[in-house]
Amino acid sequence: MNFLLATGNAHKAEEFAELFNPEILQITAAPEKLEVIEDGKTFHENALKKAKSYYDKYKQPVMADDSGLCVQALPDELGIYSARFGGDDLSAKERAELLLEKLQGVQAKDRSAYFICVLCFYLSEDEYFFFEGRLQGRVGEEYKGDFGFGYDPVFYPEGENEHSSLAMLPDWKAKNSHRAIACQFAENFFKERVCQSR
Ligand code: IMP
Repeated sequence: MNFLLATGNAHKAEEFAELFNPEILQITAAPEKLEVIEDGKTFHENALKKAKSYYDKYKQPVMADDSGLCVQALPDELGIYSARFGGDDLSAKERAELLLEKLQGVQAKDRSAYFICVLCFYLSEDEYFFFEGRLQGRVGEEYKGDFGFGYDPVFYPEGENEHSSLAMLPDWKAKNSHRAIACQFAENFFKERVCQSR
């Protein structure tokens, strides 16, 4: 199945291209970025809004995503607002550093956070599907690592790599990120669907 990817974020487009088995799902970048106002109250609403806008323009199946970082100690400041945290004028690095600043003095047990990715596969106005992936961890004390993007340098995943930021773990992130998990759910679903239709 072929889906048009509803994003203008080049980093995400690169990550998605690696995440699907092309024998099951092919994702093609949209010819141009559409300005979609992300004013939904949930990740699902925003993903659906993006998917519908691209579908209405290009009249073909679309995959859209919405993602963000949810930080337990700052419940209303990031989440669906992650891209705008601290205001529109900040760079990604300044946003991540602002997050460290706001959590100064907050103890390790209260620095819990997770990345979330919601995918919307929009086949028509009557048929669309959502898939969700999460990556649990914490906001660390230090900005570290050269890979990835956004909040990767301040996010430390739980488990075996808890002392490394996501920006130090490009290979691990490729397999275990919130996006990778959501994509795996989607791929399994469409694989099953194709098998059933045969
Ligand atoms: P959106 O899905 O394009 O709206 O992105 C929301 C925000 O979450 C952006 O500021 C990204 O930097 C951040 N974000 C989403 N996924 C990741 C990730 O994998 N690493 C770091 N930041 C991310």
